[in-house]
Amino acid sequence: MSNIYIMRIGHRPERDKRVTTHVALSSRALGAKGIYVDTEDPVLEGNIASVVERFGGDYTIKTGITWQEALADFKGKVVHLTMYGQRVDEAMPKIPTDEDIMIIVGAEKVPAEVYQRADFNVSVGNQPHSEIAALAIFLYQYTGGSHLYEDRDGQMTVIPNERGKTVVNKDD
Ligand code: SAM
Repeated sequence: MSNIYIMRIGHRPERDKRVTTHVALSSRALGAKGIYVDTEDPVLEGNIASVVERFGGDYTIKTGITWQEALADFKGKVVHLTMYGQRVDEAMPKIPTDEDIMIIVGAEKVPAEVYQRADFNVSVGNQPHSEIAALAIFLYQYTGGSHLYEDRDGQMTVIPNERGKTVVNKDD
């Protein structure tokens, strides 16, 4: 299976802190390996690193990296999520699962160069909605949800429970 990376463009630290945090956490939960964010944001880096420290896995975050820098040495396929793109159900069979993919999501208007650089411009419906929703639906279809319950060997592990909360803490 390929490694999945996210490139978040147009991040404004004050305005987008919650949405970009959720882009990172949702992609991590669904199996991505890491995220690049174009604007430097040490607070965001710290918050995501703290979740990884507690809940495990090897998700990485780098901020202050432009999409051109993130793609400079990237060897896999580039998927840009946009409401203007081809249908996700038609695109999905064409996107390789044996090569790494970089998924670009925007905040506001995305520059035209991104549409040209992308190997696949993919829509999750043609209605405007959210980068978090688009990413989650795309990743669920791409991975088949295979990472949702994987063991990440975290300091804390949540055990599925019909009622109440069961958390195993390695320190206990
Ligand atoms: N008007 C903006 C544009 O021209 O790109 C839309 C910005 S939208 C609030 C933020 C991001 O959500 C987009 O850059 C895209 O990555 C994602 N997004 C929103 N709706 C989508 C859809 N229907 N399909 C795929 N991605 C979508």
